[in-house]
Amino acid sequence: MTETSSRDSRALRRETDHVVNEVAQGLRTLDDGAAWFSDLSPAGRQEVLREVAGYALQAHITAADGRAGVARSGVKPTANPSVMICMDPPRSGFAGLPADEHEKAFRVLVSVFAVADTRRRQKYCRGTCGHAWHNLPTATKEP
Ligand SMILES: [Zn+2]
Repeated sequence: MTETSSRDSRALRRETDHVVNEVAQGLRTLDDGAAWFSDLSPAGRQEVLREVAGYALQAHITAADGRAGVARSGVKPTANPSVMICMDPPRSGFAGLPADEHEKAFRVLVSVFAVADTRRRQKYCRGTCGHAWHNLPTATKEP
């Protein structure tokens, strides 16, 4: 298996970046993102969870973002990933959860990232920033 080689890792990170930001910006549904995630290999899923947890931390998520994200994720607030993300400060280690909780963790993490990133876009970016992930090719759609 070559799925953990660094070249494939880079490709997976690029794809993760694209999928997660499309979901955050409403260009792709969360269900569609979750379907992409469940098609990955188990090792790929763990890598994506670590990556997305990193995005969420970089977006400075708060416990309130955690609750808002969980509410829109469709995952029960009592599920492990929901509890972890709502802690103050949020816990990481989602890739270490049992495999059958990985999709829930993905849904929760992407939703919470979307809450924090939407706030950042509205407050600081206003469509004029140089963040590559806020200027996706598909984001230039006609009104
Ligand atoms: Zn931006």
